[in-house]
Amino acid sequence: MVSEADCLFCKIVAGEIPAKIVHETDRTLAFRDVNPQAPTHVLVVPKDHYPDAAALAAADDGLADDVLKAAHAVAEQEGVAASGYRLVFNTGAEAGQTVPHVHGHVLGGRGLTWPPG
Ligand code: 5GP
Ligand code: ZN
Repeated sequence: MVSEADCLFCKIVAGEIPAKIVHETDRTLAFRDVNPQAPTHVLVVPKDHYPDAAALAAADDGLADDVLKAAHAVAEQEGVAASGYRLVFNTGAEAGQTVPHVHGHVLGGRGLTWPPG
């Protein structure tokens, strides 16, 4: 497992790797995906390191709630909340999770097909 010291998104939170930050709270950070799949494609993370959504769900202090609220605030800010957006947490290898620091993808600004493939 990738340690926090080697974690890409921990480094973005720490300001050690640049990112286009669009929203921040005391416990969350949201930044544009480097390889956007839609006109709006923003990643929302807790500033603390949790490897995946299961670990975030087990955090017993309202952190998952903060991440969910931040994701919706991003959608509002990006102007996609009314038209519709998708919030995706790829969780584990088979779901395609490539960065082991939990992140919600906020996708919007175009019609999105279902199922996602
Ligand atoms: P996953 O596949 O784990 O659900 O999503 C990881 C996301 O992180 C991908 O959409 C990928 O484009 C994005 N990503 C990977 N490296 C970087 C980076 O250095 N900066 C930013 N902003 N996004 C990244
Ligand atoms: Zn991390």
